[in-house]
Amino acid sequence: MNYLEKFEEVIAQSNYKNLPQTTQDFIRQKAFLYQFTFQELKQLIDFAIDFRLWHEAHIEAIFKEEYPNKKAAFNHVKEVWQNLKAKPNSYENFSPTLYQDDVRKFSFKSYESSKAALGICPVASPHTRCCNLLTLDAVQSCGFDCSYCSIQSFYNKDNKGQEIIGFDKNFKENLKNLQLDPNEVYHIGTGQSSDSLMWGNKEGILESLFEFAFAHPNVILEFKTKSNNIAYFLENEVPKNIICTWSLNTPTICENEEHLAASLEKRIDAAKKVSQKGVLVGFHFHPIVQYENYLNEYARVYKTLLENFDPKKVALVSFGTLTFIKPVIQKIRTRNFKSKILQMPFTNANNKYSYCLETKKEMFKHAYETFKPWHKEVYFYLCMEDESLWKEVFGYEYASNNQMEEFMKMAYMEKIKNNVTEIVYK
Ligand code: SF4
Repeated sequence: MNYLEKFEEVIAQSNYKNLPQTTQDFIRQKAFLYQFTFQELKQLIDFAIDFRLWHEAHIEAIFKEEYPNKKAAFNHVKEVWQNLKAKPNSYENFSPTLYQDDVRKFSFKSYESSKAALGICPVASPHTRCCNLLTLDAVQSCGFDCSYCSIQSFYNKDNKGQEIIGFDKNFKENLKNLQLDPNEVYHIGTGQSSDSLMWGNKEGILESLFEFAFAHPNVILEFKTKSNNIAYFLENEVPKNIICTWSLNTPTICENEEHLAASLEKRIDAAKKVSQKGVLVGFHFHPIVQYENYLNEYARVYKTLLENFDPKKVALVSFGTLTFIKPVIQKIRTRNFKSKILQMPFTNANNKYSYCLETKKEMFKHAYETFKPWHKEVYFYLCMEDESLWKEVFGYEYASNNQMEEFMKMAYMEKIKNNVTEIVYK
């Protein structure tokens, strides 16, 4: 096989076509000059993609005029790439102008399913301490498109590259036909396949879910969201076994990595309104992202919650961080946008890529310690994390995922029971 054939083979299996023409031509010219190997070429293409993704100097600017040999050329670019990943990120050269063309783009489809899409949490793993959450897909795919989200690898896009948001015409019926053991307590979340509130009561999904919760007081139904679309909650009686939880982050991450979702302020305001109506709320800090000065920025958000919410009405606070599988990394590299989310020092844990345990200890201990005033009243947990972190962060650990599940459900049911009492007497 001559070098041209090899080159064509490599680029066909890489993200080469996602690079602008000028960069493609540059890489082609350097490839023929230095005769890079298959692996070197594939990596150089990913480096070029990452430099653009991270809004750093492009590969054309990084390449020196001349190198003594291809090893020197490849190693130099790789070193620049590794150094950028090793240092804490800075969003100083990021601004809203980078996303001005980024709008929510999606099309809707209806489909007919013969049963409710109830299953095990899609990101749960036997290698991590997990709560055995059951997930109910009320809607397929999401319109918020957060840069790090694994949902993007679950669903396909339409021929215009837009998300296809799917609604099950039989959702109401399928929920009614769900066979649950009335003596069992179930913890079911609706925010894994899509955002739980961004669609409001479109296709009657919230109405169906409220009816389901009323019919099953032994179900803890969790709506997880980054939205402020709470109208249906404010206009209707909300079953007491519903918990509404917001995924929160610092303004820096909300603006740069979650910019199609509601702003931090709007999310907190929505949570306050729903809480004032007597609905139990909760907060997920997942992913906590490491970047320059991140601990101070997170502390400000934690303190805002401590100042604005009554812990009696807060069922949970969870912490988690970036964890990638290869298909999601691949998907992120095919997207034409700016994000620092892959510019981090990855550690491979069970074929998932994330921060090292030391970094995780720092961010989770800082978070939990800041919430000290709530330790006795709110249930705190780490989502999908190495079990060794629990003792370090919380001072205790579970013997198994089933034990974590039991304690979590007990804590939530206790909150639901107490929340009811308070409402009735007012
Ligand atoms: S801990 Fe997180 S990842 Fe694990 S099952 Fe629960 S929600 Fe899913």
